[in-house]
Amino acid sequence: ERMRRGLAKTHDALWGRLDAVLGRAERIDAAVLEELEEILITADFGVKTTTALMTALQQRARSAELTAEAVRAVLREEILALLRAEVAPLELSASQPFVLLVVGVNGVGKTTTIGKLAQQFKKQGRSVLLGAGDTFRAAAAEQLAIWGERCEVPVIRHSEGADPAAVAFDAAKAAVARKVDLLIVDTAGRLHTKVNLMEEMKKIHRVLGREIAGAPHETLLVLDASTGQNALVQARLFQQAVGVGGIVLTKLDGTAKGGVAVAIAAELGLPVRYIGIGEGIDDLRPFDAEMFVDALFA
Ligand code: GDP
Repeated sequence: ERMRRGLAKTHDALWGRLDAVLGRAERIDAAVLEELEEILITADFGVKTTTALMTALQQRARSAELTAEAVRAVLREEILALLRAEVAPLELSASQPFVLLVVGVNGVGKTTTIGKLAQQFKKQGRSVLLGAGDTFRAAAAEQLAIWGERCEVPVIRHSEGADPAAVAFDAAKAAVARKVDLLIVDTAGRLHTKVNLMEEMKKIHRVLGREIAGAPHETLLVLDASTGQNALVQARLFQQAVGVGGIVLTKLDGTAKGGVAVAIAAELGLPVRYIGIGEGIDDLRPFDAEMFVDALFA
């Protein structure tokens, strides 16, 4: 139910328009399919995903007459298949401590997501430590400290402008000494130049890996769904620059661009691990393809 409300805007934008087109069409011909294609593009499914969906519809049209119900069924099936291929929950048991590096540009909801994750894992009985590696903005470390207090999770932080790798180093050492289950390291999301970002990330990787074997075990990229195709562009950049293991897609509740979740999974082959559907602690949900598609097609 919460998921359905979170995706209401995408649902309405998509189905309001699809139903209008399908409802008034006497038969579903090439012109109608073209309109459908445009609606999918507008809902931020991306060119590649939309093309795949259209191909599936055309294939179905060849074997039987396309009805409105058939269009719905084909879209649902195809979108589910695209998403399902990319579902994978985080496996914290892979290492102790498990080190999660969180990247993303300013404003996407990175700090909030880290706070929500800390709270959720804490609730599950895991011990958590946070590393305030976004030393570029004083507010970032401050905000993380507030989340830390709220969910009783310690935060390793340095002063503003400190070396993020030094924070990562201290956080890794503390995580080992305190035998925590999960270390989440925040980073500054500056995409000003890809080279700088890469250099900074390489250093953080080196430091973490020296203290904890295999760390970071996962790099999560936080993206703001309301930026639509721009989120896809950011994902490509980060994927090239730092290597990304999974996606958190935030602010799905405020946008009609929810189709971007499908574009990210299908075009980048990256699992969407969590989605943000509100500002509350429980509004970060493990991504569930079935539930997502149900909410979209409800
Ligand atoms: P950061 O700069 O990436 O660290 O972004 P913040 O964590 O400070 O978040 C920016 C704003 O987005 C804050 O007002 C958050 O409450 C809000 N926010 C984060 N995630 C979500 C979400 O899933 N839904 C909504 N509606 N707001 C969110």
